Amino acid sequence: MPYYEYRCRDCGQRFEVRAPMNAKPEHPACSHCHRTNTQPVYSTFAIGGAGAKGSSSGSCATCSGGSCSTCH
Ligand SMILES: [Zn+2]
Repeated sequence: MPYYEYRCRDCGQRFEVRAPMNAKPEHPACSHCHRTNTQPVYSTFAIGGAGAKGSSSGSCATCSGGSCSTCH
């Protein structure tokens, strides 16, 4: 289940919400002030792997060996 990142417009708190792909909350309650004046923060990484070189099989940009914490 993916995480979505949000920022609170009231207090500036950044927090993550775990929700199903097809049920992304628009304005979840802030984890700090519990208000719903929040907006999603869009990550910079591309969804779908536009810059990926084929399908990575057991390696990542960090180790290229498939044995670091990012791989597993
Ligand atoms: Zn807040």
